[in-house]
Amino acid sequence: MDFRFPDSPLEVAKPSSIQFGVLSPGEIRQMSVVEIEQSRSMLNGKPVRGGLSDPRLGPIDRYKGCETCANNLSECPGHFGHIELAKPVYHVGFMKTVLSIMRCVCFSCSKILLDKEHVKFKQALRIKSPKHRLKKFVDACKNKTKCEGGAEIDLRGQASDQPVKKIRGGCGAQQPNFSIVGLELVAEYKSQRKKYDEEWLPEPAERKQSLTAEKVLSVLKRISDEDCQLLGLNPEYARPDWMILQVFPIPPPAVRPPAMMSSSSMSEDDLTHQLSMIIRHNENLRKQDRSGSPAHIISEFTKILQYFVATYFDNSLLGLPKAAHGSSGRPINQ
Ligand SMILES: [Zn+2]
Ligand SMILES: [Zn+2]
Repeated sequence: MDFRFPDSPLEVAKPSSIQFGVLSPGEIRQMSVVEIEQSRSMLNGKPVRGGLSDPRLGPIDRYKGCETCANNLSECPGHFGHIELAKPVYHVGFMKTVLSIMRCVCFSCSKILLDKEHVKFKQALRIKSPKHRLKKFVDACKNKTKCEGGAEIDLRGQASDQPVKKIRGGCGAQQPNFSIVGLELVAEYKSQRKKYDEEWLPEPAERKQSLTAEKVLSVLKRISDEDCQLLGLNPEYARPDWMILQVFPIPPPAVRPPAMMSSSSMSEDDLTHQLSMIIRHNENLRKQDRSGSPAHIISEFTKILQYFVATYFDNSLLGLPKAAHGSSGRPINQ
């Protein structure tokens, strides 16, 4: 291969530190040069504007310059675009972390389930490694079936203006158990509640429920910055709600170049094909949502979008049919 790049005259700087983080929806929009809404990338041999070969993402052949940086094919670094997702979806790479966080906070009010005075809470705070600290919190919150602290508010009489000292100030909500099933988080309420209060128990069908990424996002969004810090997440670089995809980054064509089949025909890269499926199903979902379709229809369309987003990141996910090319049935590579 020919890698002849001219040497840069710039002085080489040494990085003083590296900060890893998760891109926020705002950052993805900010680094994007164009919103991609067209699943069709070429029409009559020309790139479609707002499609995956939009010339603002970088030149796709050697004869044209980049519409963003004006450089040619070998000089342009390529530019990211983005898709606004019609509904949030899970990011397969963050599922386990999201599960851990959900296990530590109240499903109703998003507060950490453990009392700050609890010995395990104090032990957790002594752990410097964010990963281990979160693990410790998951462990300590394991047996919390209720968001404690609601009772203290009830103790306060109507006439009294003396604030009652709240131990924790939780909302009192019962907590479900969470697990990952397929591409979703599932919440399950323990059936032992039946012994105490027949009335309060949800119907058997409701005891176990799939959680939409939208629902999980609303719980994660309400976690305070302070609680994020305590759980080992720096809210400046990795808010838990950023681990749910709301805006989807589109990599430049340079990382998914079309393959030349012959001098006249080109075959699109697998990533481009998979991205066009995401765009198409995102638009389908948006249409259903805007026309006020019933919840179960929206849910089905969201599942389809979720499937294509998940297999874009990893087409070898256990138990999932592989995303394949429509025409040949050949599985998509990553
Ligand atoms: Zn460029
Ligand atoms: Zn609560």
